[in-house]
Amino acid sequence: MLLFTHPSMLGHRPPRGHAEHAGRLEAVLEALQGLGLDRREAPFAEREALTRVHPGSYLDALEQAFGKTSEGIVQLDPDTFISSGSREAAYRAAGACIAAVDAVLANQGDLAFCAVRPPGHHAEPEQAMGFCLFNNVAVAAKHALAHHALKRVAIVDFDVHHGNGSQTVAEHDERILFASTHQSPLYPGTGAASEHGPANNVLNAPLPAGAGAELWRQAMQDQILPAIDAWRPELILVSAGFDAHLADPLAQMELSEADFAWAGRALQELSLRHCKGKLVSTLEGGYDLGALARSAVAYLGALQRD
Ligand SMILES: [Zn+2]
Repeated sequence: MLLFTHPSMLGHRPPRGHAEHAGRLEAVLEALQGLGLDRREAPFAEREALTRVHPGSYLDALEQAFGKTSEGIVQLDPDTFISSGSREAAYRAAGACIAAVDAVLANQGDLAFCAVRPPGHHAEPEQAMGFCLFNNVAVAAKHALAHHALKRVAIVDFDVHHGNGSQTVAEHDERILFASTHQSPLYPGTGAASEHGPANNVLNAPLPAGAGAELWRQAMQDQILPAIDAWRPELILVSAGFDAHLADPLAQMELSEADFAWAGRALQELSLRHCKGKLVSTLEGGYDLGALARSAVAYLGALQRD
């Protein structure tokens, strides 16, 4: 499995005490050492790739905000902050996902994991939110469609929060399936089961607090996995957040490492059936360092079995 990351992503520094801090990435990278992944440097995303999701006006406004970080931390929304290191981190986080798509589609490996921060799935085309600046996974999906001329890609999002930004992008592009399990009610408040998108390419499986393994696996088994199967994607992208773990301080989905491993095996099966095993996962949330690290190892270990 290929691993795309970069030390500059540790330089994105929200204020002290913020849940999304550099220690998360350090914990994940340290835990992954045992898996023997093939580590690659995450490049800067090019503006052309970002504009497939984010209009130029948004990119310009963000550049202005990055410019102000020389004087200190800048707040973009109630939860989202940038520091002087955030520009490089954000461009490389999106760039990691683009490079991972390029690498798996060039047969350099079937599987890739992007160990990145800031995360991306809450970022709307014209709004940074929920710790996210660029929608990394959506940028990767658009790149796969535009640059590699794929016809159908699937974004699976098992982060405990709804990937509102990714859904917005899918709602405007019927070549993208967006399928999500998430806790509801919870931030950001979107992701009702009734939201299917105008082209019926959006599938939401909201679950109550305390859902646990049984309900979550049932939602995956009965809804998410069959939807991916029916979509016949040429590439599967996964918004891999691990904040649905029992120990996570931000939510109450109450999953364990074994559930993420189960998801890894199920997704690997689908990727083998439809896309020659090609699957790119990118890190989203996960805020208990131990649970985050163990869950990432369990998920990726299950994916790369055989
Ligand atoms: Zn999350």
